[in-house]
Amino acid sequence: MDADVEKLRRLVRIPTVSSPVEAEVDGEVFTTFLAALAEEFPLLHARLEVIRVRDHSLLLHWPGRGSDDPVVLMAHLDVVPVDPTAPWQHPPFGAEVHDGAVWGRGTLDDKGSLVAICVAVERLLAAGFVPARDVWLSFGAREEVSGPDAAAAVEELRGRGVSPWFVLDEGGAVAHQAFPGVEPPLGVVGVSEKGTTTLELVAEGRGGHSSTPARGGPTARIARAVVRLEHRPFRPRLPAPTAELFRRIAPHAPLPLRPLFAAAGRLDRLVTRALLAAGPEPAALVRTTMAVTQLSGSPAHNVIASRATAAVNLRILVGDTVASATEHVRRAVADDSITITALDAGEPSPVSPVDDPAFELLAATIAAEFPDAVPTPYVMMAATDSRFFTAICPRVYRFTPFRMTKAQRESIHSYDEHVGVADWLAGVAWYARLLEGLP
Ligand SMILES: [Zn+2]
Repeated sequence: MDADVEKLRRLVRIPTVSSPVEAEVDGEVFTTFLAALAEEFPLLHARLEVIRVRDHSLLLHWPGRGSDDPVVLMAHLDVVPVDPTAPWQHPPFGAEVHDGAVWGRGTLDDKGSLVAICVAVERLLAAGFVPARDVWLSFGAREEVSGPDAAAAVEELRGRGVSPWFVLDEGGAVAHQAFPGVEPPLGVVGVSEKGTTTLELVAEGRGGHSSTPARGGPTARIARAVVRLEHRPFRPRLPAPTAELFRRIAPHAPLPLRPLFAAAGRLDRLVTRALLAAGPEPAALVRTTMAVTQLSGSPAHNVIASRATAAVNLRILVGDTVASATEHVRRAVADDSITITALDAGEPSPVSPVDDPAFELLAATIAAEFPDAVPTPYVMMAATDSRFFTAICPRVYRFTPFRMTKAQRESIHSYDEHVGVADWLAGVAWYARLLEGLP
């Protein structure tokens, strides 16, 4: 097996599972991972300045020929836990090779990227290459739990006066079977992320014994609020990057759909209507969504609740804000006796420019390494650490340079996560090409 693939396998075997409760994080495991990383990439650790951020995150500084407008490449070294009941075909921390792929948690999300970046940099260092501008690597250890490390890395960079030309994090991929009826894979680059916000609805009342109920108690009011939310979805709209995606895939779409896709920007109402009808996933592209996830009432079956709650998880589309979405919920619920508080509040991230040399560099690098793919911007549904970097950089892009089937994309945070060996090596080549192509 290729020596670089062995490096990936070794690092996948170290179960760097993060936890929102810092006391539950096994620090030893992260220390072991960082030591193994240093062993596998000696030049990178010797020639780049290595800055530890909080406990287990890293910032690495690679001086280039010019120090203006550096580039930041991001990845994270933590992974989500494995559900012991999930039917993995191969052990999740085994990094076994089967059918030309490395199987295991983190192979796609996100050690695949992290190790590919390191291999590319190590190779270029060995060849005596110096990038045209400074390159920073930001490797987070608390990405999966939205931990404080990414914000700390941003503060570190800000303190050093670093204002990046662009930031590249995980996100889109060379996505096969991305769109029904569109044959070529799409090289999707995330230019914005939906914001994640959770609101809690609380209704209070007298409670009491269930043998003498009164009308309009807390549970009834919460139930009515939940039904009202179901009846008042957010207004659909086509954000600019999504219209651009349709314009770019139009030539590859089924013939009858081409004119509609090509004119998606002008025919946005028709397109949004079609997407709303196409199912929950396409519908999520064109509006802020809300899902009632947790409900609570009385602790006993013969006690009337004195307090009932519902958690509403919102995914806020660019164009809406936490404030406007909260106002929508308040109006839909239309009940002043219900209090609404934000348990967490995340705004959608600003849209990074598409008509821009940085985006064009990424798109050209995708086209060069993956000639069959159609490079295109899109709006990501998931959140990454890169959202914190929008504070210091207007060009934040999210792309993972691996070919992924639909099944592979669905395996992320689920089971049977695996990366094709050839696909992973192409990803290494993509990062090297990007670094060599920096103007
Ligand atoms: Zn990830």
